[in-house]
Amino acid sequence: MGDQLFAVEANQTVELNDPTAHAEMMAIRRLGSIIKKTDLSGFTLYTTCEPCPMCMSAVIWAKIDAVFYGCSIPEISNFTDQINLRAKYLAKKISGSVYLSDGILLEENRKLLKEFQ
Ligand SMILES: [Zn+2]
Repeated sequence: MGDQLFAVEANQTVELNDPTAHAEMMAIRRLGSIIKKTDLSGFTLYTTCEPCPMCMSAVIWAKIDAVFYGCSIPEISNFTDQINLRAKYLAKKISGSVYLSDGILLEENRKLLKEFQ
């Protein structure tokens, strides 16, 4: 909403022993708990990497307006196993819309991705 930052999260799959604890899932959960809603329309998600199918589905269920990401799933696949189902493909399967923009802060996000591995 506006320029206000509501939630900043990171991947916590190892720390929480939870394979669903991707950064996007954690941010969606955090935001929902802060605003006490499951409808997150009006919000934008910024993320290092293209949301995986689980996270993109959560974006859709949460009705998040837009997602800006750096590295694409094909690029992430160079570092770790990925389900090759692109966010844009999933976004086209719904009646509403989610704005997607890729390549933001690409070099910075590539550096973060390499540090994560
Ligand atoms: Zn994910």
